[in-house]
Amino acid sequence: MWTAHRYHDLADRLYAEVAPVPVRAPTLVALDETLAADLGLEPAWLRSPEGVAALAGNAVLPGTRPVALAYAGHQFGQFVPSLGDGRAVLLGEVVATDGRRREIQLKGSGRTPFSRGGDGRAALGPMLREFVISAAMAGLGIPTTRSLAVIATGEPVRRETMLPGAIVVRVAESHVRVGTFQYFAARGDREALALLVDDVVARSYPELAATAGPERAAALLDAACARQAKLVASWMGVGFVHGVMNTDNVALAGETIDYGPCAFLDAYDPATVFSSIDRIGRYAFANQPHMAGWAMARLAEALLPLLADDRDRAVAIAQAAIDRMAAASTRAYDAVMAAKIGLAADDPAARDLVTRLLAAMAATAADHTATFTALTDATADPAAVPALAARLSSSELAAWLEDHRAAVAAGTGAAAAAVARMRAANPRFVPRNHRVEAALAAAAEGDLGPLGDLLAVVRRPFDEHPALSALAEPPPPGGGIYRTFC
Ligand code: AMP
Ligand code: MG
Ligand code: MG
Repeated sequence: MWTAHRYHDLADRLYAEVAPVPVRAPTLVALDETLAADLGLEPAWLRSPEGVAALAGNAVLPGTRPVALAYAGHQFGQFVPSLGDGRAVLLGEVVATDGRRREIQLKGSGRTPFSRGGDGRAALGPMLREFVISAAMAGLGIPTTRSLAVIATGEPVRRETMLPGAIVVRVAESHVRVGTFQYFAARGDREALALLVDDVVARSYPELAATAGPERAAALLDAACARQAKLVASWMGVGFVHGVMNTDNVALAGETIDYGPCAFLDAYDPATVFSSIDRIGRYAFANQPHMAGWAMARLAEALLPLLADDRDRAVAIAQAAIDRMAAASTRAYDAVMAAKIGLAADDPAARDLVTRLLAAMAATAADHTATFTALTDATADPAAVPALAARLSSSELAAWLEDHRAAVAAGTGAAAAAVARMRAANPRFVPRNHRVEAALAAAAEGDLGPLGDLLAVVRRPFDEHPALSALAEPPPPGGGIYRTFC
């Protein structure tokens, strides 16, 4: 059941009402049927001409009133007071089968009042990339916006070359970002900030429903920081590099949002940067927890007028929240990494073992995902140690394994508990860069087979998938540095 977006009940200045711009020849390229069912949407209808027309923005569904949202943002550290949805519109909301509301957004749906110089459109490759990688994140159990469908528009888009155009249908708990707060803070609009706080609490933090006033703003800041700290720690555990953690790409709901230049590590190198535009490595893999803290400090600044009437007191509250987030980030990271080697979050041996393992992996350019999978198998069965040694050819490995064995034996639940933790923390499959590229290239030629195989493994990344085990393998050597252009 579709309804108009709740922004219509809040305040006009949060958005611009704008219809998607119709496209020439929409065709459905990809549909997530499980997600459709979870949203209470009928896959057969979504595949029908009326369904495709709705997902392409060619027909506006009864009851909906599409909007483009206003937001600002720090882009690579530079504040831009007016960004907004320049190539996306929120169609409206649906009530999912879990009883919670989800926002449905079309990305690539044409120009809006926020488009500036852009064409409002998107190319098929990047939209399919968002479809695959967001599906992988969901499969990994990491909070994320989802992709319901990708629609080819039948129109070309001009980039460096002419490319086929597409729209991704994005599903989110909420599209409110740090940059949404910054937009109104920059305009001195305290009333809008308060409306946004109430909206985010109602939508994403029902546990704060009993709070009000300054106490509510402070509680939301704390809770949002805690969610972001956990989110980024979970990225670190699977080797995910977001690539563009600008404050307009940090969602208050704590979902991963905006799959542009993101990619997963192959060889472990904490300095990894994939994005061609991130020249100084601001959003390098190991920098992500720090940059999440930086983004949330910008949220804290935007909330200052609500935290206390007295400015010094507001700053003290904000600073305390940011300090707590730094500690929460470290705790969350330690817990994620301890689980990856089978230890409890509070195991005193975990931190040193993780540090030594990552150093050995970095020194030998060991594959991130495959090393942890092999370590899981070797912990379950010593006969698998040679396979681990083939992944991690480090002179430190034998001594490390001895200390690891001792820590596992001393831990609660011993080996069985350790292996269970590791199986739940170490995916066999991530969307490998070379596989994503190959699947997108095949899709551009009309062959959706490789994309289907990739989706099959990344949707259930902890399972074995014997027939598709090649998709777990690192890229062949000599492929050069992987670069993303979004
Ligand atoms: P992003 O890099 O995806 O976070 O986008 C940053 C800003 O650029 C947002 O305001 C987008 O709406 C806008 N933008 C990105 N691509 C386009 C485009 N092709 N046309 C218009 N606006 C765009
Ligand atoms: Mg963005
Ligand atoms: Mg984007």
